[in-house]
Amino acid sequence: MTAPSPAEAPPRAAATEIIEDVACPFCGLLCDDLEIQRGPSRVTVRKNGCVKAVAGFERPPGDASPRIDGRPATLAEAVQAAARLIGAARLPLFGGLGTDVEGMRAVMALADRAGGVVDHGLSDGQYRNLEVLQTSGWFMSTLTETRNRADLVVIVGSDVNTMHPRFFERIVAAPEPMFLGPGQTRTVVFIGEGLDASAAKGGRIGEVISLPCPAAAVGEVIAAVRARLKGAPLGTDAVAGISLATIDDLAARCKAASYGVMVWAPPSLAYPTADLTVRVVSDLVKDLNLTTRFAGLALGGNEGAVSAAAVATWQSGFPMRVSYASGKPIYDSERYAATRLLAAGETDLLVWIASFTPELVPPPSRAPAIVLATPGMTLAATPRVLIPVGTPGLDHAGRLVRCDNVVSLPLKSLDRSTLPSVADVVASIELAL
Ligand code: SF4
Repeated sequence: MTAPSPAEAPPRAAATEIIEDVACPFCGLLCDDLEIQRGPSRVTVRKNGCVKAVAGFERPPGDASPRIDGRPATLAEAVQAAARLIGAARLPLFGGLGTDVEGMRAVMALADRAGGVVDHGLSDGQYRNLEVLQTSGWFMSTLTETRNRADLVVIVGSDVNTMHPRFFERIVAAPEPMFLGPGQTRTVVFIGEGLDASAAKGGRIGEVISLPCPAAAVGEVIAAVRARLKGAPLGTDAVAGISLATIDDLAARCKAASYGVMVWAPPSLAYPTADLTVRVVSDLVKDLNLTTRFAGLALGGNEGAVSAAAVATWQSGFPMRVSYASGKPIYDSERYAATRLLAAGETDLLVWIASFTPELVPPPSRAPAIVLATPGMTLAATPRVLIPVGTPGLDHAGRLVRCDNVVSLPLKSLDRSTLPSVADVVASIELAL
Protein backbone atom coordinates (compact mmCIF):
# COMPACT_ATOMS: atom_id res chain seq x y z
CA MET A 1 0.00 0.00 0.00
CA THR A 2 1.01 3.63 -0.32
CA ALA A 3 0.84 5.78 2.76
CA PRO A 4 -1.90 8.31 2.08
CA SER A 5 -0.81 11.63 0.68
CA PRO A 6 -3.90 13.70 -0.14
CA ALA A 7 -5.32 16.25 2.31
CA GLU A 8 -2.13 18.10 3.24
CA ALA A 9 -1.70 19.04 6.85
CA PRO A 10 -2.40 22.76 7.24
CA PRO A 11 0.81 24.82 7.12
CA ARG A 12 1.36 27.23 9.95
CA ALA A 13 3.07 29.96 7.96
CA ALA A 14 0.67 32.63 6.75
CA ALA A 15 3.05 34.78 4.67
CA THR A 16 6.17 34.27 2.56
CA GLU A 17 9.36 34.50 4.59
CA ILE A 18 13.05 34.01 3.76
CA ILE A 19 15.01 32.03 6.33
CA GLU A 20 18.82 31.99 6.16
CA ASP A 21 21.43 29.66 7.63
CA VAL A 22 19.11 26.68 7.64
CA ALA A 23 20.71 23.30 8.44
CA CYS A 24 19.79 20.51 6.05
CA PRO A 25 18.92 17.13 7.61
CA PHE A 26 18.93 15.11 4.37
CA CYS A 27 22.48 13.76 4.54
CA GLY A 28 25.19 13.45 7.14
CA LEU A 29 27.04 16.61 6.05
CA LEU A 30 24.33 18.77 7.67
CA CYS A 31 25.17 21.81 5.50
CA ASP A 32 24.04 24.78 7.58
CA ASP A 33 24.02 27.56 4.98
CA LEU A 34 20.79 26.95 3.08
CA GLU A 35 18.40 29.75 2.29
CA ILE A 36 14.80 28.67 2.43
CA GLN A 37 11.63 30.40 1.35
CA ARG A 38 8.64 29.52 3.47
CA GLY A 39 5.33 30.32 1.84
CA PRO A 40 1.76 29.83 2.93
CA SER A 41 1.55 26.41 1.35
CA ARG A 42 5.10 25.16 0.73
CA VAL A 43 8.78 25.41 1.49
CA THR A 44 11.29 25.99 -1.32
CA VAL A 45 15.08 26.00 -1.39
CA ARG A 46 16.44 29.34 -2.70
CA LYS A 47 20.20 28.95 -2.20
CA ASN A 48 22.80 26.33 -1.43
CA GLY A 49 20.55 23.30 -1.78
CA CYS A 50 21.63 20.20 -3.68
CA VAL A 51 19.29 17.81 -5.43
CA LYS A 52 18.74 15.84 -2.22
CA ALA A 53 17.98 18.96 -0.23
CA VAL A 54 15.46 20.17 -2.81
CA ALA A 55 13.76 16.77 -2.85
CA GLY A 56 13.60 16.71 0.95
CA PHE A 57 12.57 20.27 1.72
CA GLU A 58 10.12 20.58 -1.16
CA ARG A 59 8.35 17.23 -0.69
CA PRO A 60 4.66 17.85 0.11
CA PRO A 61 3.93 17.19 3.80
CA GLY A 62 1.17 14.70 2.97
CA ASP A 63 -1.61 13.35 5.12
CA ALA A 64 -1.35 13.67 8.89
CA SER A 65 -3.99 10.97 9.47
CA PRO A 66 -2.82 7.91 11.39
CA ARG A 67 -4.22 4.49 10.46
CA ILE A 68 -4.95 1.29 12.29
CA ASP A 69 -5.05 -1.79 10.04
CA GLY A 70 -5.40 0.57 7.09
CA ARG A 71 -8.39 2.46 8.50
CA PRO A 72 -8.21 6.13 9.51
CA ALA A 73 -7.81 6.73 13.24
CA THR A 74 -7.02 9.58 15.56
CA LEU A 75 -3.48 10.03 16.81
CA ALA A 76 -4.62 9.08 20.33
CA GLU A 77 -6.20 5.86 19.04
CA ALA A 78 -3.10 4.99 17.05
CA VAL A 79 -0.86 5.63 20.05
CA GLN A 80 -3.04 3.37 22.21
CA ALA A 81 -3.04 0.63 19.56
CA ALA A 82 0.75 0.86 19.22
CA ALA A 83 1.16 0.65 22.99
CA ARG A 84 -1.03 -2.45 23.15
CA LEU A 85 1.00 -4.18 20.43
CA ILE A 86 4.33 -3.27 22.01
CA GLY A 87 3.11 -4.28 25.47
CA ALA A 88 2.06 -7.70 24.17
CA ALA A 89 5.18 -8.34 22.08
CA ARG A 90 7.77 -10.83 23.27
CA LEU A 91 10.69 -9.15 21.50
CA PRO A 92 9.82 -5.86 19.74
CA LEU A 93 12.45 -4.66 17.27
CA PHE A 94 12.89 -0.91 16.94
CA GLY A 95 14.35 -0.47 13.46
CA GLY A 96 14.84 2.18 10.82
CA LEU A 97 15.51 4.78 13.51
CA GLY A 98 15.56 7.62 11.00
CA THR A 99 15.09 10.31 13.59
CA ASP A 100 16.97 13.04 15.43
CA VAL A 101 18.66 13.07 18.85
CA GLU A 102 15.43 13.77 20.74
CA GLY A 103 13.55 11.08 18.83
CA MET A 104 16.29 8.55 19.44
CA ARG A 105 16.38 9.31 23.15
CA ALA A 106 12.67 8.55 23.29
CA VAL A 107 13.16 5.32 21.31
CA MET A 108 15.89 4.15 23.70
CA ALA A 109 13.62 4.81 26.68
CA LEU A 110 10.76 2.90 25.06
CA ALA A 111 13.01 -0.01 24.05
CA ASP A 112 14.30 -0.17 27.63
CA ARG A 113 10.77 -0.20 29.02
CA ALA A 114 9.45 -2.70 26.49
CA GLY A 115 12.44 -5.07 26.55
CA GLY A 116 13.17 -4.55 22.86
CA VAL A 117 16.10 -4.44 20.44
CA VAL A 118 17.36 -1.31 18.64
CA ASP A 119 19.13 -1.26 15.26
CA HIS A 120 19.36 1.45 12.61
CA GLY A 121 18.23 0.84 9.02
CA LEU A 122 21.69 1.78 7.67
CA SER A 123 23.77 0.12 10.34
CA ASP A 124 25.18 -2.54 7.99
CA GLY A 125 27.26 0.30 6.54
CA GLN A 126 28.13 1.71 9.95
CA TYR A 127 29.39 -1.66 11.14
CA ARG A 128 32.01 -1.66 8.38
CA ASN A 129 33.52 1.18 10.39
CA LEU A 130 32.60 0.21 13.93
CA GLU A 131 34.28 -3.17 13.83
CA VAL A 132 37.57 -1.53 12.84
CA LEU A 133 37.18 1.20 15.44
CA GLN A 134 36.32 -1.32 18.16
CA THR A 135 39.14 -3.73 17.42
CA SER A 136 42.09 -1.58 16.37
CA GLY A 137 41.29 2.13 16.62
CA TRP A 138 42.01 4.67 13.90
CA PHE A 139 43.25 8.15 12.97
CA MET A 140 40.31 10.24 11.76
CA SER A 141 39.90 13.75 10.41
CA THR A 142 36.86 16.02 10.47
CA LEU A 143 35.13 17.94 7.69
CA THR A 144 36.73 21.17 8.93
CA GLU A 145 40.24 19.75 9.26
CA THR A 146 40.00 18.22 5.80
CA ARG A 147 38.80 21.48 4.27
CA ASN A 148 41.49 23.54 5.95
CA ARG A 149 44.53 21.27 5.82
CA ALA A 150 44.36 18.50 3.19
CA ASP A 151 46.74 18.72 0.25
CA LEU A 152 45.87 15.19 -0.90
CA VAL A 153 42.35 13.71 -0.84
CA VAL A 154 41.88 10.06 -1.80
CA ILE A 155 38.31 8.95 -2.45
CA VAL A 156 38.13 5.25 -1.62
CA GLY A 157 35.56 3.31 -3.65
CA SER A 158 32.69 5.63 -2.79
CA ASP A 159 30.40 7.67 -5.00
CA VAL A 160 30.60 10.61 -2.65
CA ASN A 161 29.04 13.03 -5.11
CA THR A 162 25.81 11.06 -5.21
CA MET A 163 25.53 10.37 -1.50
CA HIS A 164 26.74 13.78 -0.29
CA PRO A 165 26.30 16.15 -3.24
CA ARG A 166 27.96 19.20 -1.67
CA PHE A 167 31.01 17.47 -0.18
CA PHE A 168 33.31 18.69 -2.94
CA GLU A 169 31.86 22.19 -3.06
CA ARG A 170 32.05 22.73 0.69
CA ILE A 171 35.10 20.70 1.68
CA VAL A 172 37.43 19.55 -1.12
CA ALA A 173 37.04 22.52 -3.49
CA ALA A 174 36.42 25.16 -0.81
CA PRO A 175 38.10 28.36 -2.08
CA GLU A 176 39.82 29.52 1.12
CA PRO A 177 41.31 26.67 3.16
CA MET A 178 42.87 28.08 6.32
CA PHE A 179 46.24 26.34 6.02
CA LEU A 180 46.83 26.11 2.27
CA GLY A 181 48.88 29.02 1.01
CA PRO A 182 47.80 31.36 -1.81
CA GLY A 183 47.62 29.43 -5.05
CA GLN A 184 48.32 26.10 -3.35
CA THR A 185 46.12 23.33 -4.69
CA ARG A 186 45.16 19.87 -3.54
CA THR A 187 45.36 16.64 -5.49
CA VAL A 188 42.29 14.42 -5.63
CA VAL A 189 42.55 10.69 -6.36
CA PHE A 190 39.53 8.47 -7.05
CA ILE A 191 40.03 4.73 -6.53
CA GLY A 192 37.23 2.60 -7.98
CA GLU A 193 35.24 2.45 -11.16
CA GLY A 194 32.20 4.54 -12.02
CA LEU A 195 32.95 7.24 -9.46
CA ASP A 196 31.69 10.71 -10.34
CA ALA A 197 34.70 13.04 -10.39
CA SER A 198 32.85 15.97 -11.98
CA ALA A 199 32.68 18.01 -8.77
CA ALA A 200 36.46 17.91 -8.23
CA LYS A 201 37.04 21.29 -9.89
CA GLY A 202 37.81 24.87 -8.99
CA GLY A 203 40.78 27.05 -8.18
CA ARG A 204 41.93 24.91 -5.26
CA ILE A 205 41.89 21.62 -7.17
CA GLY A 206 45.14 20.61 -8.82
CA GLU A 207 45.53 17.17 -10.36
CA VAL A 208 42.52 14.85 -10.48
CA ILE A 209 43.54 11.22 -10.89
CA SER A 210 41.15 8.30 -11.48
CA LEU A 211 42.25 4.74 -10.80
CA PRO A 212 39.30 2.62 -11.99
CA CYS A 213 39.07 -0.87 -10.55
CA PRO A 214 36.19 -3.15 -9.48
CA ALA A 215 34.54 -1.98 -6.25
CA ALA A 216 35.43 -5.13 -4.32
CA ALA A 217 39.11 -4.76 -5.35
CA VAL A 218 39.62 -1.28 -3.88
CA GLY A 219 40.98 -2.84 -0.69
CA GLU A 220 43.54 -4.80 -2.73
CA VAL A 221 44.79 -1.60 -4.33
CA ILE A 222 45.13 0.10 -0.94
CA ALA A 223 46.91 -2.99 0.42
CA ALA A 224 49.30 -2.83 -2.54
CA VAL A 225 50.04 0.84 -1.82
CA ARG A 226 50.73 -0.08 1.79
CA ALA A 227 53.03 -2.93 0.78
CA ARG A 228 54.99 -0.74 -1.64
CA LEU A 229 55.42 1.91 1.05
CA LYS A 230 57.06 -0.79 3.15
CA GLY A 231 59.29 -1.73 0.22
CA ALA A 232 57.70 -5.11 -0.33
CA PRO A 233 57.80 -6.74 -3.79
CA LEU A 234 54.39 -7.64 -5.18
CA GLY A 235 55.43 -10.20 -7.77
CA THR A 236 53.03 -8.74 -10.34
CA ASP A 237 52.87 -5.88 -12.82
CA ALA A 238 49.36 -4.82 -11.88
CA VAL A 239 46.79 -5.08 -9.09
CA ALA A 240 43.08 -5.09 -10.00
CA GLY A 241 44.01 -3.68 -13.40
CA ILE A 242 46.11 -0.83 -12.00
CA SER A 243 49.75 -0.91 -12.99
CA LEU A 244 52.50 -1.22 -10.43
CA ALA A 245 53.92 2.10 -11.63
CA THR A 246 50.61 3.80 -10.86
CA ILE A 247 50.46 2.17 -7.43
CA ASP A 248 54.01 3.30 -6.72
CA ASP A 249 53.09 6.82 -7.84
CA LEU A 250 50.13 6.90 -5.42
CA ALA A 251 52.34 5.57 -2.62
CA ALA A 252 54.84 8.36 -3.31
CA ARG A 253 52.09 10.99 -3.31
CA CYS A 254 50.76 9.71 0.02
CA LYS A 255 54.24 9.79 1.53
CA ALA A 256 54.90 13.30 0.24
CA ALA A 257 51.58 14.76 1.40
CA SER A 258 51.63 17.21 4.30
CA TYR A 259 48.11 16.27 5.32
CA GLY A 260 46.46 13.49 3.37
CA VAL A 261 42.93 12.23 3.88
CA MET A 262 41.36 8.94 2.80
CA VAL A 263 37.61 9.48 2.35
CA TRP A 264 34.95 6.80 2.16
CA ALA A 265 31.21 6.52 2.61
CA PRO A 266 30.44 3.17 4.30
CA PRO A 267 27.11 2.53 2.51
CA SER A 268 29.01 2.70 -0.83
CA LEU A 269 31.27 -0.17 0.19
CA ALA A 270 28.51 -2.71 -0.29
CA TYR A 271 30.32 -5.99 -0.83
CA PRO A 272 31.09 -8.89 1.54
CA THR A 273 34.68 -7.92 2.41
CA ALA A 274 34.06 -4.17 2.78
CA ASP A 275 35.07 -4.19 6.44
CA LEU A 276 38.50 -5.42 5.32
CA THR A 277 38.75 -2.43 2.96
CA VAL A 278 38.08 -0.07 5.88
CA ARG A 279 40.64 -1.96 7.94
CA VAL A 280 43.41 -1.77 5.33
CA VAL A 281 42.68 1.94 4.75
CA SER A 282 42.94 2.47 8.49
CA ASP A 283 46.20 0.49 8.63
CA LEU A 284 47.67 2.50 5.74
CA VAL A 285 46.76 5.75 7.51
CA LYS A 286 48.52 4.52 10.65
CA ASP A 287 51.64 3.63 8.67
CA LEU A 288 51.74 7.03 6.99
CA ASN A 289 51.53 8.79 10.32
CA LEU A 290 55.01 7.51 11.13
CA THR A 291 56.42 10.11 8.74
CA THR A 292 53.67 12.60 7.89
CA ARG A 293 50.12 13.55 8.81
CA PHE A 294 47.37 11.43 7.34
CA ALA A 295 43.82 10.65 8.43
CA GLY A 296 40.61 8.91 7.46
CA LEU A 297 37.26 10.61 6.97
CA ALA A 298 34.14 8.44 6.99
CA LEU A 299 31.07 10.10 5.56
CA GLY A 300 27.62 8.51 5.80
CA GLY A 301 25.28 9.48 8.60
CA ASN A 302 22.27 9.79 6.30
CA GLU A 303 18.81 9.11 7.80
CA GLY A 304 20.10 10.16 11.22
CA ALA A 305 22.40 7.13 11.43
CA VAL A 306 25.24 8.89 13.26
CA SER A 307 22.83 10.51 15.71
CA ALA A 308 21.18 7.17 16.45
CA ALA A 309 24.55 5.54 17.14
CA ALA A 310 25.63 8.44 19.34
CA VAL A 311 22.47 8.39 21.43
CA ALA A 312 22.55 4.60 21.74
CA THR A 313 26.12 4.90 23.01
CA TRP A 314 25.25 7.60 25.54
CA GLN A 315 22.21 5.71 26.80
CA SER A 316 23.38 2.09 26.74
CA GLY A 317 27.16 2.17 26.36
CA PHE A 318 26.92 0.48 22.95
CA PRO A 319 26.68 1.98 19.44
CA MET A 320 23.65 0.01 18.19
CA ARG A 321 22.29 -3.55 18.06
CA VAL A 322 21.42 -3.56 21.73
CA SER A 323 18.78 -5.74 23.38
CA TYR A 324 16.93 -4.82 26.57
CA ALA A 325 15.14 -8.18 26.67
CA SER A 326 16.93 -9.22 29.84
CA GLY A 327 16.22 -5.91 31.59
CA LYS A 328 19.71 -4.52 30.95
CA PRO A 329 21.45 -3.53 27.72
CA ILE A 330 23.15 -6.49 26.02
CA TYR A 331 25.24 -5.79 22.92
CA ASP A 332 25.80 -8.24 20.08
CA SER A 333 26.54 -6.88 16.61
CA GLU A 334 25.60 -10.16 14.92
CA ARG A 335 22.77 -11.52 17.04
CA TYR A 336 20.88 -8.23 17.29
CA ALA A 337 21.23 -7.13 13.67
CA ALA A 338 17.71 -6.21 12.52
CA THR A 339 18.02 -8.03 9.20
CA ARG A 340 19.05 -11.25 10.96
CA LEU A 341 16.31 -11.01 13.60
CA LEU A 342 13.67 -10.45 10.92
CA ALA A 343 14.95 -13.20 8.61
CA ALA A 344 15.11 -15.69 11.48
CA GLY A 345 11.65 -14.77 12.76
CA GLU A 346 13.08 -13.96 16.18
CA THR A 347 11.11 -10.75 16.60
CA ASP A 348 7.33 -10.71 16.86
CA LEU A 349 6.86 -6.97 16.25
CA LEU A 350 8.71 -4.46 14.07
CA VAL A 351 8.50 -0.81 15.08
CA TRP A 352 9.90 1.07 12.07
CA ILE A 353 10.82 4.75 12.24
CA ALA A 354 11.72 6.87 9.20
CA SER A 355 11.13 10.59 9.59
CA PHE A 356 13.53 11.99 6.95
CA THR A 357 12.83 10.31 3.60
CA PRO A 358 10.26 7.85 2.25
CA GLU A 359 13.13 5.78 0.88
CA LEU A 360 13.98 4.23 4.26
CA VAL A 361 11.35 1.51 3.89
CA PRO A 362 10.93 -1.42 6.27
CA PRO A 363 12.56 -4.66 5.08
CA PRO A 364 10.32 -7.60 4.14
CA SER A 365 9.11 -9.30 7.29
CA ARG A 366 6.53 -11.75 8.58
CA ALA A 367 6.28 -9.76 11.81
CA PRO A 368 3.42 -7.28 12.21
CA ALA A 369 4.61 -3.68 12.00
CA ILE A 370 4.06 -0.31 13.56
CA VAL A 371 5.36 2.37 11.20
CA LEU A 372 6.16 5.95 12.17
CA ALA A 373 7.08 7.50 8.84
CA THR A 374 7.21 10.64 6.83
CA PRO A 375 4.12 10.64 4.58
CA GLY A 376 4.48 9.28 1.07
CA MET A 377 6.33 6.09 1.92
CA THR A 378 5.34 3.11 -0.22
CA LEU A 379 4.88 0.10 2.02
CA ALA A 380 4.83 -3.51 0.80
CA ALA A 381 2.17 -4.48 3.35
CA THR A 382 -0.40 -2.69 5.48
CA PRO A 383 1.09 -2.04 8.92
CA ARG A 384 -0.98 -2.70 12.04
CA VAL A 385 -0.46 0.95 12.97
CA LEU A 386 0.74 3.80 10.74
CA ILE A 387 1.53 7.17 12.29
CA PRO A 388 2.75 9.92 9.92
CA VAL A 389 5.44 11.96 11.63
CA GLY A 390 7.18 15.25 10.97
CA THR A 391 10.72 15.69 9.68
CA PRO A 392 13.21 17.33 12.07
CA GLY A 393 14.40 20.63 10.64
CA LEU A 394 11.27 20.99 8.56
CA ASP A 395 8.13 20.32 10.59
CA HIS A 396 9.70 20.81 14.00
CA ALA A 397 13.01 21.79 15.59
CA GLY A 398 15.56 19.14 16.43
CA ARG A 399 19.22 18.22 16.61
CA LEU A 400 21.48 15.90 14.60
CA VAL A 401 25.06 14.70 14.97
CA ARG A 402 27.20 15.39 11.88
CA CYS A 403 28.84 12.53 9.97
CA ASP A 404 32.29 13.26 11.41
CA ASN A 405 30.92 12.83 14.94
CA VAL A 406 32.42 16.02 16.32
CA VAL A 407 29.49 18.42 16.37
CA SER A 408 25.74 18.28 16.71
CA LEU A 409 23.73 20.92 14.89
CA PRO A 410 20.42 22.44 15.88
CA LEU A 411 17.69 22.18 13.26
CA LYS A 412 15.18 24.99 12.91
CA SER A 413 11.48 24.40 12.63
CA LEU A 414 10.19 25.70 9.31
CA ASP A 415 6.63 25.05 10.49
CA ARG A 416 5.85 23.21 7.26
CA SER A 417 3.09 21.18 8.88
CA THR A 418 1.61 20.15 12.21
CA LEU A 419 2.84 16.57 11.92
CA PRO A 420 3.99 15.34 15.34
CA SER A 421 7.64 14.59 16.08
CA VAL A 422 8.94 11.05 16.59
CA ALA A 423 9.99 12.10 20.10
CA ASP A 424 6.44 13.14 21.01
CA VAL A 425 4.78 10.09 19.48
CA VAL A 426 7.21 7.62 21.04
CA ALA A 427 6.98 9.31 24.44
CA SER A 428 3.17 9.10 24.21
CA ILE A 429 3.38 5.39 23.39
CA GLU A 430 5.62 4.83 26.37
CA LEU A 431 3.19 6.69 28.62
CA ALA A 432 0.36 4.53 27.32
CA LEU A 433 2.15 1.24 27.98
S1 SF4 B 1 24.97 17.84 0.73
FE1 SF4 B 1 23.64 16.83 2.21
S2 SF4 B 1 23.39 18.24 3.93
FE2 SF4 B 1 24.27 19.39 2.16
S3 SF4 B 1 22.47 20.30 1.17
FE3 SF4 B 1 22.86 18.33 0.16
S4 SF4 B 1 21.61 16.80 1.26
FE4 SF4 B 1 21.71 18.65 2.50
